[in-house]
Order: sequence, then C-alpha cells, then structure tokens
Amino acid sequence: MPPRRSLAVVLRATDFGELDKLVTFFTLGFGRLSGIAKGAKKSRRRFGTNLEPFSLVRLHFFDKEHVGLVRVDQCDLLASFQALRQDLPRLACGLYALELVRELTAERERHRELFTCLVRFLELLAQVGPRGPLVVAFELKLLALLGFEPQLRACVGCRQELPSGTPAALSVEKGGLLCARCVPGVAETIPVAGPTLDTWREILHAELAHAAGRPFSQAALAESQTLLPRFVEVHLGRAIRSRGFMEEVLCVR
Ligand SMILES: [Zn+2]
Repeated sequence: MPPRRSLAVVLRATDFGELDKLVTFFTLGFGRLSGIAKGAKKSRRRFGTNLEPFSLVRLHFFDKEHVGLVRVDQCDLLASFQALRQDLPRLACGLYALELVRELTAERERHRELFTCLVRFLELLAQVGPRGPLVVAFELKLLALLGFEPQLRACVGCRQELPSGTPAALSVEKGGLLCARCVPGVAETIPVAGPTLDTWREILHAELAHAAGRPFSQAALAESQTLLPRFVEVHLGRAIRSRGFMEEVLCVR
C-alpha cells in the first residue's frame, strides 16, 4: 500500500475515541476525503495544530480500499490562516465557506479549481477581512465550479438572450433566469434587479480578489445575500447551518 500525498485544507476535525481524531480534508488531488489521525488527540508532537479547520497542509496518507476512511500518516503545515481563528467575523465567514465545500462536494470527487478558489478565499479573508462581496463572490464561483451556476445569459424558458441592465426573475427550481414573457407560467420566481445580474455576470469571470474588491451597490449586495443562499439550499435540499451564525455575527439580518 504506497503512501499518497496531496495538498489539502482541513474542513473539520472531531475527536474519535480516546486518542484519535476524525478529520475531513478537501484535497487538491483527490477531492474531499475523511481519515483517522491515530493518536492525534494525545500526541501534539506528531500533528501539532495542523489538523485544525482552515489549515493548509501537505497530507500524507494511506488509502487501502479506495473507499471510506483513509489513514492519516503525516501533515506538514503550509499555512495556518491563524487570523481566521482570532477574529469572530473572519471565523464565521471562514466556517461558512468550509461548510459549503464540505456539503456541496461529493467524497473523492476532484475539483482542482475549487481547491485553488478556496485557498484564495481563505487568504483574502485573512488579509482584508469579512467583506460581504468576498463571500458573495465565493458563493457564485463555487456554484459555477460545481456546475450549479444559475443560467444568467439567457431565459431558461425560451432561450432568448437577456440583455445586460435589464431585470429578470430567478427561478431557483429551474436553475436560472426567466424573461418577462415566461414568468407567468412558473411558480415561485424572485425578481432580480438588472445591476445585480450584471454584477453576478462580471464576478463569475473575474479573479476572486478583483470580484471581491469591485464596487458593489448595497442593493446588489442585499439581493445577493438573500438569493444565493436559497440557490444553494435548493441544490443541497437543506440549509447550510453555519450561515445563520455568520449572518448574526455580521449583522446581515
Ligand atoms: Zn423567456
């Protein structure tokens, strides 16, 4: 059984029995993996604080069955993102991002671009703090990279192109926007303003730092903060638990 290794972000770590830890990683090479770190609860010498959420590590592991849990052999810390653990708003946004990745990715399904996007998000969150646009940009990019992005260019009913600057209605169930003619036949549509849609279109193709730093109107931000979580919830079939905590901390509600 040859050892394997990959860059990885720690998504979650919980105690497992008397001595061990059960750790969920998002790895560059193998997607989301969970594994047992033997002795990690007791022996700080071997793992230190490398198994805490947010840590970017080089993970060495054994994968006997190619299913189920792996055995964590070693974790070399590359970046701890300590700033995220020392500031409540940063912590809340960071935990939300980790939960999004944990819940929306399938086990052992590789998403290299999403891995890069998550690491960039954690870097920016540590550097510039918990700005609303950063979280919105991450949500949109995550949806796009996993193939769930809302169809923003054309009506999902009649396929007609939607010109920029014009409002449309979002149907979460149909996975995109509807033009004014198609709205009446569809239940539960949500109107979205033209500038908000233009912002989303731009963010989807921009680098995360640019997307987070671009001017964002209060109206576009508020609309995004309401609609994107609903979009996520429909795909997932339930709410993201840490969303409420983040909203309380950031006083969004
Ligand atoms: Zn239409």
